[in-house]
Amino acid sequence: MSQKRYLLTPGPTPVPPEVLAAMAEPVIHHRSPDFKDVFNGAVERLQQVFRTRNDVLVFTSSGTGAFESSVVNLLSPGEPVVVVSHGEFGTRWQKLAAAFGCEVVALDYAWGAQPRAEDVARVLSESGARVALLVHSETSTGVVSDIRSLVEACNDAGVISVVDAISSLGAVPLETDDWGVDVVVTGSQKALMTPPGLAFASISERAWARSQEATLPRFYWDWANARKNQAKGSTPFTPATSLVVALNAALELILAEGLESAHARHVALGRACRAGAKAMGLELYSPDNDGAAVLTGILTPEGIDAVALRLALRDRYGITIAGGHGDIAGRLFRIGHIGYVDIFDITTALGAVELQLVEMGTTVQRGAGGAAALAAYAAAV
Ligand SMILES: *Cc1c(COP(=O)(O)O)cnc(C)c1O
Repeated sequence: MSQKRYLLTPGPTPVPPEVLAAMAEPVIHHRSPDFKDVFNGAVERLQQVFRTRNDVLVFTSSGTGAFESSVVNLLSPGEPVVVVSHGEFGTRWQKLAAAFGCEVVALDYAWGAQPRAEDVARVLSESGARVALLVHSETSTGVVSDIRSLVEACNDAGVISVVDAISSLGAVPLETDDWGVDVVVTGSQKALMTPPGLAFASISERAWARSQEATLPRFYWDWANARKNQAKGSTPFTPATSLVVALNAALELILAEGLESAHARHVALGRACRAGAKAMGLELYSPDNDGAAVLTGILTPEGIDAVALRLALRDRYGITIAGGHGDIAGRLFRIGHIGYVDIFDITTALGAVELQLVEMGTTVQRGAGGAAALAAYAAAV
């Protein structure tokens, strides 16, 4: 028997069979009525998932591409931009803005910290920046920031907020219009249950106005060109048409479940995973609260190499979980619970970790993790 595969990382995430089947449909032309209908449907559904009436632009790229589009459309060379970092992705956006010659005003926190609105307000007023780059769910640590309060600080200062919601949109609440978020960026391969390759940005009127004055060069990422083409039901360049067909199928599933139900499911899965890990005697790295609904970061017992654990799970059981970064790489592993994930994915992951930890010489009470995860899940739903 070929080895069964389990993809339990916080991106890419597993894809439902209906979505995979949609990927396998014959290729259609991107300037045809067939495509136009699917594309318009997908954009309309994206607006529902983004909770916005703003334009949502579709790019064929990973999430980073759509984030880069925000930088080149909103900023000018040498312009100050506040970039908040509390983990790997905030640091990536600092490097991105620096690569385009912007003056990065870094607001740095320790990995795993929660950014604070008063700090954002202070740095905004000191720097005179007109744009701020923020991360909603910091996937490297599992921290979901209180993005509503950070965006409020931006709005109070008249500053445009760009929010990396790549691992959060669809998993945890994000009210683009109600909270006044100017730009929300996400990708197809996380909570949107679609293979990697598409990325999206919603853009407020204020951000559109800013983009007309900003002078960084842009071509592939030109928002105005994308908007002009989307008005005709297409894109400026050949999009990943099969992914758009798949996305449309995935969005139908998400909206049929209902966003609130999806959010509640993610909370229940987070509780289950944390309860299971703790019952196994493991220490959590990600926060132990319902905010951490995207992934659970867990530390291996002292003396157990997290990389060796992960590779063994992959090679012996076909289970892929995520590792850690930097000085914590030897201890941290992360189990994703975003998108097409249910409680049995969690018990599978915990069960496999248990098997392998015992194999590696740790004392773990057999079955304790799975039992606790199931109990926490049952209590949550
Ligand atoms: C996955 C992820 C990204 C990177 O997206 P790519 O699609 O790999 O470019 C950026 N930010 C966060 C928070 C992510 O989780």
